[in-house]
Amino acid sequence: MFDQIVQSVAYQKINLDAAVSVTVKRLDQIHPKISGNKFFKLKYNFLEAQKQGLNKVLTFGGAYSNHIAATAYAAHLFGFKSVGIIRGEELAAKTLNPTLVTAQQFGMQLHFVSREQYRLKDQPEYLAKLTQQFPEHFIIPEGGTNPLAIQGCKEILNAEDLQNYDVICCAVGTGGTISGIIEASSEHQTVIGFSALKGDFLQRDVQQWTTKKNWKITDSYCCGGYAKTTPELFQFMQAFEAEHTIPLEQVYTAKMMVGFFDLIEKNYFPKDTRILVIHTGGLQGRHAG
Ligand SMILES: *Cc1c(COP(=O)(O)O)cnc(C)c1O
Repeated sequence: MFDQIVQSVAYQKINLDAAVSVTVKRLDQIHPKISGNKFFKLKYNFLEAQKQGLNKVLTFGGAYSNHIAATAYAAHLFGFKSVGIIRGEELAAKTLNPTLVTAQQFGMQLHFVSREQYRLKDQPEYLAKLTQQFPEHFIIPEGGTNPLAIQGCKEILNAEDLQNYDVICCAVGTGGTISGIIEASSEHQTVIGFSALKGDFLQRDVQQWTTKKNWKITDSYCCGGYAKTTPELFQFMQAFEAEHTIPLEQVYTAKMMVGFFDLIEKNYFPKDTRILVIHTGGLQGRHAG
């Protein structure tokens, strides 16, 4: 199932009137509602669950988590049951947002917990409690980043991608996706990550997953922090979509593209650099400002 999906991923060249060539790898087209990179992160987690004889998964996320929506969808495809532990007790009484509606449509059982409880999500005692409440569930961490996710994200790049490009750009959240891309990349390539979050903790996080040095991450284009936006971000997003007919969303891919365009404008890349920009998707959470 995953392999079929991966083979169908399209490439789209965009013309920027610059002395570099730019190709977008459209992981967003894998599914209209599910972030393309999340498939790669989930693949080996589901295969491992199957290996352990389990057919239920449990994971964690905020109310707008693309990972929650993607896990629900992957579970649906695999014939698994899924539970989402959602941050924010108060949400249980409210109308569900599109992310949570999508998750529920794919059969995910939503379980709302307080922020205090949610903060325990990596603590062994809390996980033991959850295991009692939800027996025989394969547990995937928040954001889906674990060694199995990194293994899956290595498959975002294929053999041609290693040959045909000098630079690879992608959006960064927890750092799992870029870590897989770095691990798969060839020595002559540089991987540049555009963080959707503020802070340099990501440098350390990614260093846990790879010993390679051919990468950098910038948070200069995060608009002040995760899910924060500015009018300029939405203006850019709309202008980009009109010009290149590629949809973006405001949390990850628009910020990446703002940063990428800024580097192009500053002549950061040498003439004739062949650049591959990974469109990770996330369009289910898109809004236009
Ligand atoms: C989750 C997500 C990312 C970030 O992936 P990480 O592995 O957490 O760094 C980037 N883009 C989109 C659209 C996402 O949904």
